[in-house]
Amino acid sequence: MRSDLPLDVSIVVTLPFQENTLIVSLPGSKECLVIDPGFGSRRIVEQLADLQKSPVAILLTHGHVDHIAGVAGLRETWPEIPILIGVGDAPMLLDSQRNLSAPFGMPVTAPPATQTLNHHDRIVLAGIPLEVREIPGHSPGHVVFVYSNAKVPLVFGGDVLFQGSIGRTDFPGGDQQLLIEGIHRHLFGLPDDTLVFPGHGPTTTIGQEKQDNPFCGLN
Ligand SMILES: [Zn+2]
Repeated sequence: MRSDLPLDVSIVVTLPFQENTLIVSLPGSKECLVIDPGFGSRRIVEQLADLQKSPVAILLTHGHVDHIAGVAGLRETWPEIPILIGVGDAPMLLDSQRNLSAPFGMPVTAPPATQTLNHHDRIVLAGIPLEVREIPGHSPGHVVFVYSNAKVPLVFGGDVLFQGSIGRTDFPGGDQQLLIEGIHRHLFGLPDDTLVFPGHGPTTTIGQEKQDNPFCGLN
């Protein structure tokens, strides 16, 4: 966990897809958000216990199985916890074909969304204000969460923009052109030192990806 950030962000790398589950809270707060709980919810619950944090909401960037497989397990421990996802991906929670778990041979579903999110929605959960930006292309209703209440903004980005790469677009509903346009329009306008926490791999910055990213960089 980094202590130089405006929010505490703890990452649990879930297997087998090396997916980053994020535990996000205001510094010193016991309340937190869990973003994209992946496979192995027991490890996520253990990490929450180690951090002495209780989740007040589950935020989902998109409906692919590696980002939602832990939702049901978290709901066993916290039955009332709200589940938020972009309106375009909400049906994937209930459909193992659409969330790609059945095609991967491990059918999984999740409880239904309690709130669906639209582009430019603003939410405040665990005291953390976030702006929703819809960036489709990896999945039809993919959203990212932007925290801009600090000198260094943070993006909880799912499978849109990675260090040196972008989300796969070869799944049903994928569209590489749309994804790249969305990154340019909705992420590259943020300050260069904006930190991006992606769904897989290391944290990066908007400036680094504008400079170096071979798929969507501006050079
Ligand atoms: Zn995905």
